[in-house]
Amino acid sequence: MAENFLIQTYVMFIFFISRLIFSLGKSKPWISSTTTSTITTIIPPMILTNYKEIGYKLRDDHEAINMASSDYGNMVRQIPAAVLYPSSINDIATLIKSSNNLSLPFHIAARGHGHSVRGQATAPNGVVVNMMALKSQRNRPGVIVSGNPFSGYFYADVGGEQLWIDVLRATLEHGLAPVSWTDYLYLTVGGTLSNAGISGQTFRYGPQISNVYELDVVTGKGDFVTCSAHKNSELFYAVLGGLGQFGIIIRARIALELAPKRVKWVRMLYTDFSEFARDQEQLIKINGRKDKNALDYLEGSLLMNQGSPDNWRSSFFPPSDHSRIIFKVTDNKIVYCLEVAKFYDDRSSETVDKVLKLLLKGLNYDPGFMFEKDVSYMDFLDRVRGGELKLQSQGLWEVPHPWLNLFIPKTHVSDFNTGVFREIVLKRNITTGPVLLYPMNRNKWDDRMSAVIPDEDVFYTVGFLHSGGFDDWESFDEQNKEILKFCEDAGINVKQYLPHYKTQEDWMKHFGSKWKTFVERKSMFDPKKILSPGQRIFSHQ
Ligand SMILES: Cc1cc2nc3c(=O)[nH]c(=O)nc-3n(C[C@H](O)[C@H](O)[C@H](O)COP(=O)(O)OP(=O)(O)OC[C@H]3O[C@@H](n4cnc5c(N)ncnc54)[C@H](O)[C@@H]3O)c2cc1C
Repeated sequence: MAENFLIQTYVMFIFFISRLIFSLGKSKPWISSTTTSTITTIIPPMILTNYKEIGYKLRDDHEAINMASSDYGNMVRQIPAAVLYPSSINDIATLIKSSNNLSLPFHIAARGHGHSVRGQATAPNGVVVNMMALKSQRNRPGVIVSGNPFSGYFYADVGGEQLWIDVLRATLEHGLAPVSWTDYLYLTVGGTLSNAGISGQTFRYGPQISNVYELDVVTGKGDFVTCSAHKNSELFYAVLGGLGQFGIIIRARIALELAPKRVKWVRMLYTDFSEFARDQEQLIKINGRKDKNALDYLEGSLLMNQGSPDNWRSSFFPPSDHSRIIFKVTDNKIVYCLEVAKFYDDRSSETVDKVLKLLLKGLNYDPGFMFEKDVSYMDFLDRVRGGELKLQSQGLWEVPHPWLNLFIPKTHVSDFNTGVFREIVLKRNITTGPVLLYPMNRNKWDDRMSAVIPDEDVFYTVGFLHSGGFDDWESFDEQNKEILKFCEDAGINVKQYLPHYKTQEDWMKHFGSKWKTFVERKSMFDPKKILSPGQRIFSHQ
């Protein structure tokens, strides 16, 4: 009893002193008096007092906790004890160090834009670092473009919290741009580099992680380290595709090239899967980075019985052609859409049509079903935004997203078409989102990085981008489970992209021969297993 009283008095005293210290500072503390106890269950008051510079920036109010508890997936809710709104890199290092100094460290997760779908950026009962807070607090620009016009070596030093759309805008001002993108640009640099960052440019330029020269990272020990392929390379390779397990990306040096101005954008429809796959594989064979005759972008998708051939990812088809496309889909159940783009500028505007014509010559799409557009480079890269804004205005953006993204070895893509698209997806008849399917080249990936891909020279990515209602999303999850079970039973060694597993055995299987290195790197850079608990690799709730 007396002991309890002493502890309570001590906590009150420390709390009072810290409030006093806070109030002597410039700004108001965020931690509310009513809930300080939640934070102090994971971060002892003594630590908060010692590290008063972060105490200022820890929030546990409803708005902050609510934002950090869920993500774009809207299916998982994991509540942190507090959210750090850092105003400097030092704040992040201090937070990680303070956790390391405890006998019972607390978990910490960097949150980029929270566009994960299964709680990967959450930290149940730990601290979420709201990286986007750095965006407005940086005392220098978030994107700094440098380079040498004579050697043609250009790069952008970009804050890990920056959105790719901001990277695009800032680099275009210099007539430059990164070469590898994601389809959607409102994702953070740190978030996509923790996965891979893939899109139609990947077959030629590799994923975004293949286009990074250097990183600044605050490791799981709280150390600030600059790393590259030549300096602290173990950390560099660990972090790229490392699912946030080894450190928090503070800065990335991204490769840039001269930006094109416009884009010839073409879609072709196929009813025969083998022709579709053969043409895709043929086109990605021309993939030299400097090869002027290569495509700049190649993707593919499926049209199934769901009304308009356009969807939120992009409106493309001329409205006057909608009815004949819908008719074709109704007739064939599945229509495969091959989508390519060739970029051009003033110098190549004379030749672009000829190069494209040559590339597409001999393709076996259904006659009369080729559609072309000519758009600005910016409009092409930012093509998903319009759909997002439309869904937002209808209240349909913030719904559950039971997505499934896989990499499939090329030799099994035909089995996947029959077993999954025809036997599972068509039969269940619940598809309401875009389904993507396109190939990429393994030699554009670097196996020293943490990202995991199939063991074949060419593999496909498939993305089931479902949107569900709050009460029916589980039926999509059932379909996802059935797809994974089919692959397992058929011996198709698929790898999940943006992976989500519940047990360490599943993670071991996912990483395969890379698991040993992954674990060794974890002990090297985050030995107390503090970072990114929402991935559930080393911590299971
Ligand atoms: C509409 C939409 C479209 C998408 N399109 C594509 C696409 O075309 N191609 C593609 O590859 N992906 C795509 N994605 C997936 C997306 O790349 C990942 O979900 C990515 O993680 C989202 O970035 P984020 O900034 O929101 O990261 P978050 O969801 O906030 O975080 C993801 C993971 O990275 C960690 N993390 C975040 N920031 C950092 C950092 N600075 N340092 C270290 N770790 C960090 C987090 O702890 C978490 O584990 C899409 C997602 C959505 C919702």
